Amino acid sequence: VESISVKKIETVEEFKDLKIQKSEKGRGISLTLPPDIAICEECLKDLRYKNKKKYYMYPFVACAVCGPRYTTVNALPYDRERSTMIEFPLCNEDKTSCVKEYKDFNNRRFHAQTFACAVCGPQYQLYDRSKNIIETNSIKEILEITARRINSGEIAAVKGMGGVHLICLAEDDKVLEELRNRKKERKYKPFAIMTPKLAILENLVIFSEKERELLTSFRRPIVILGKKKGSNDGILSNQVAPGLSSIGVMLPYAGIHYLLFDFIGQKSLIYTSGNVSNLPMGIRNEMIFEQLKGLADFFLLHNRTIFQRCDDSVLRVHNDKVKLIRRSRGYVPEYLPLPFEVEISGALATGPELNVTGAVLRRNRVFPTQHIGHIKSLETFNFLKNALFNIKNLLQIEDKEIEFIACDLHPSFYTTTYAKELAEKYGINYFPIQHHFAHVLGLM
Ligand SMILES: [Zn+2]
Ligand SMILES: [Zn+2]
Repeated sequence: VESISVKKIETVEEFKDLKIQKSEKGRGISLTLPPDIAICEECLKDLRYKNKKKYYMYPFVACAVCGPRYTTVNALPYDRERSTMIEFPLCNEDKTSCVKEYKDFNNRRFHAQTFACAVCGPQYQLYDRSKNIIETNSIKEILEITARRINSGEIAAVKGMGGVHLICLAEDDKVLEELRNRKKERKYKPFAIMTPKLAILENLVIFSEKERELLTSFRRPIVILGKKKGSNDGILSNQVAPGLSSIGVMLPYAGIHYLLFDFIGQKSLIYTSGNVSNLPMGIRNEMIFEQLKGLADFFLLHNRTIFQRCDDSVLRVHNDKVKLIRRSRGYVPEYLPLPFEVEISGALATGPELNVTGAVLRRNRVFPTQHIGHIKSLETFNFLKNALFNIKNLLQIEDKEIEFIACDLHPSFYTTTYAKELAEKYGINYFPIQHHFAHVLGLM
C-alpha cells in the first residue's frame, strides 16, 4: 500500500457484504507484488495449536498477511493461478476446508493467494545423500529424525522459502570444522546463524532498538551485530566467525524454522546458503542434490516450486541508518525512488561482475533484482537474465518501451557483452559507465 485516501460519501444504500472483484490485467508504474513475508503471530499460533489439525505442525501455514510472495508469483495480477501454489488446489471437503476459508471474509485467509493446509498443500520429505527417500509417517517423525541427526553433529540441507540452506549446530566446533572442510572456499569466512528467539540472541550479541526492530520485522534479514563478551563460552563455536568481533544473526521466518527449533531445542544454528562456489543456490530438488551431495549429510526438501531464488538479505545499521549489504528476500521487488522526475518508459541495467544486482527502471523508480552473486559461471549469468526479465515482466514493460541499457565500462565482463547484445536486439543505445563513477553517483 503506497497511500490511502479517505472520502466521505452520502448514501442511502445499505451495504450487506464485501466482494473482492477479480483482478484485472492492467499496469502502472508500480508493482502490486510484495516481498516475501515472515510467518505472522496468528499463523505461528496455528502451527502449535493441536486442535486445529490442518495447520498443527504444518510448515507451510500462511495467511493473507504472511507467507511467500515474490519467490512464488510468476506474473501479475497477484492471484493464486499465477503462483507456484497453483500446483496445490485448495481442499474443499468439509466446513473447515481451505476453500471455505478463502471465501469467508471474516477469515484471515479470505482471498489469501499462497496458503494451503496439511491436506492440500506442499509437504516436506527426508532424503539421504543418494537421493533415497527416508521413510517416515508424519511431519513429527520427519522433525524428530532431523533434530536427532543435527543434534548428533550432522549437516542438513533444508529447502525453504527462496532456496536451500546448510544447517548445523552453531555450538559444535567439530561440525563447523567439517563444514569448513567440505565448503572449501569457506575456510575462514564467517557463517550467519539463526537463533530461536530474541531472548537467546540477547546473550550473544549487542543490539539497539533499531536493530531489534529489523530483526523482528516481517523482512527478517540477517543483521550484522557485535558479539557479546563471553558469547563463545559454549554457546557459539569460535569457528562461526573466526577472528571477528561481529556476527550475522537472524530470527526464524518460516514455519519450518520454528518447528525445527521446537525439536532441536533452544540452540543457535548455522544457517548458510546451500551453494557451491560461484554457483547460485539450487531451487529445484535435482539441482540441490547435485550441488550439495558432498556438503550435506541428509536433505529435508519440499515439493513446492520456488519460482524466484532469493537469498537471505544482509544488512548492518550505521548511525541509525540501514546499510544493505545483500538486498534480497524481504526487500525484492520493492523499488528505490529516484530523487528527480524522468520520463523514461523503461531501461535495464546489467551490473558489473562481482556481487551483481541487475536493475529495471520505470519512470523514476528503480527496481533492483535480488542479489545475484559473481557472474563467473553460466548458471549465475542465467540467474541474472532470469531475475532481470522477471521484474521486467512483472512491471509489464514491453520490449519496445526499453529506451536504453546501462552496463559496466569494463569491456570483458559478461554483463557488458550482454548489454551490447540486448541493445542490438532492441535497436537502442547502451551506456557503459565507469565502475567507480557509478559508485559516486550512487552516493548523490
Ligand atoms: Zn499468517
Ligand atoms: Zn487445505
